[in-house]
Amino acid sequence: MITMKTQGESTLGIKGGMQLLLPAILGLSLLAPSIFHAQSIDRPEPPDWFAGDAHVHRGIGCGRSHEKNMLTPQQLLEGMQTNNLAVISVLADIGNGEMEYADRDIPMITGEDSVVSTPQSIVHWDAEWHFDPVGVTFSDKMIGGHLIVLGLKSGKTFFSQYTYPVFAWAKDQGAIAGFAHMQYLPYAFYPPPDGIPLSLDCCAPLEYPVETALGTSSFLMEDVHGSDSAMQAYYRILNTGFRPGLAASTDYSCNYGEPYGTLLTYVRIPDGNLTYRKWIEGIAKGRTVVSRNAHNEFLDLKVNGTATPGDEIRLPATRPVRVRIEWRSLKEAVGRVELVHDGAVVASQTGAVARGAPVVFEATVDFRQSGWLAARRMDWQNGHQTHTGAVFVIVESKPIRASASDAQFFIQWIDHLISRTSPGGSWGQFFSKDREAAHIRYRAAKTIFERIALEARQQALSLSAKGKVAAR
Ligand SMILES: [Zn+2]
Ligand SMILES: [Zn+2]
Repeated sequence: MITMKTQGESTLGIKGGMQLLLPAILGLSLLAPSIFHAQSIDRPEPPDWFAGDAHVHRGIGCGRSHEKNMLTPQQLLEGMQTNNLAVISVLADIGNGEMEYADRDIPMITGEDSVVSTPQSIVHWDAEWHFDPVGVTFSDKMIGGHLIVLGLKSGKTFFSQYTYPVFAWAKDQGAIAGFAHMQYLPYAFYPPPDGIPLSLDCCAPLEYPVETALGTSSFLMEDVHGSDSAMQAYYRILNTGFRPGLAASTDYSCNYGEPYGTLLTYVRIPDGNLTYRKWIEGIAKGRTVVSRNAHNEFLDLKVNGTATPGDEIRLPATRPVRVRIEWRSLKEAVGRVELVHDGAVVASQTGAVARGAPVVFEATVDFRQSGWLAARRMDWQNGHQTHTGAVFVIVESKPIRASASDAQFFIQWIDHLISRTSPGGSWGQFFSKDREAAHIRYRAAKTIFERIALEARQQALSLSAKGKVAAR
């Protein structure tokens, strides 16, 4: 059950969605001017959050044949000012090498911040690995997706026909790796295949369910312009009990050269002291909010007063949790703030924001079984503009088994992968040497999703039995 209360109604007696908090904040400011210092006028996020772009290339031209120039470290630093970024990860191409000039970039991966960095603005070299099956292709090709590897000590080019060896190599160095380009996955509302990719493109992350289930992938990233299909994929994997971090980035200059930070990731660093390592660990821990509207807006999600994205709340029994969402913006805008529970919108509020005048709304959500909450700010035409990472709510220490059908979806996904990459399958040619090794991973992940589907059905049955007892 959901109950909603807007702060506008409770403090100012105004009905309807619009929030008029400015008088209240001005009144407070006379008593406590430090409230204004908590949030910089140039940044919508609180002081322990740091905005960055974890997927930037310095080649100008996105690997096209006319590419001749690369940004210098100093130019990269200067470009961070456009969106007032705290961090950029400059990714060398350790895959097929289309992002020129890889031979100059790979030696820049040292594990240290670039010398041009300042305490407020970190420029740091890391890597992207991919061998596209179609599009800009070279003789080596693979279908698994593009991998972002953060926190490397050194880089090298190597080929594999599936993604696991890259994750293993990254882990050996203490690095954190995840899948890019989630936005290229198909929307689930096109029947069939209902979201399961059945054709190849340059970049779609076809092995994301496999490596997320097997625990090697730490985050999922939407980039270039992003899309809501990336969020559908994120919701489904959360519903099966996995907790990948959520990131957004530009893939500059493959985003038609728009400034980096046009899509960005806010990361919470609990002690408020920015380092590159803490920033990337925050992504892996899910302490993020993503924006497709540059450094202009932020969603502050708090559950039971203090829990923020990446946190877990443990409940001894079924009970309600309190949610507070604050949409802050440096620019005037009208939009809808939505609360997402296990992938479904359960409460929303339309409102207008302006600098210093956020939209605030509060809701109460009953948790009858373990699940998750996230907030998103939707635009009429362009889908989510900001989206928080999930807060997890664990009831009676049970794992999140929110959807048997989502677990079944991934079983079907992996079945497609196995049949298409088998000898004679339409993608069979991509496995000339690593088929058996890849199929061992696919089958292991499928077994995990089969167990999760069974547990989800059992949880649903026991819930409905409890409901019948309660209704008597
Ligand atoms: Zn890529
Ligand atoms: Zn890229």
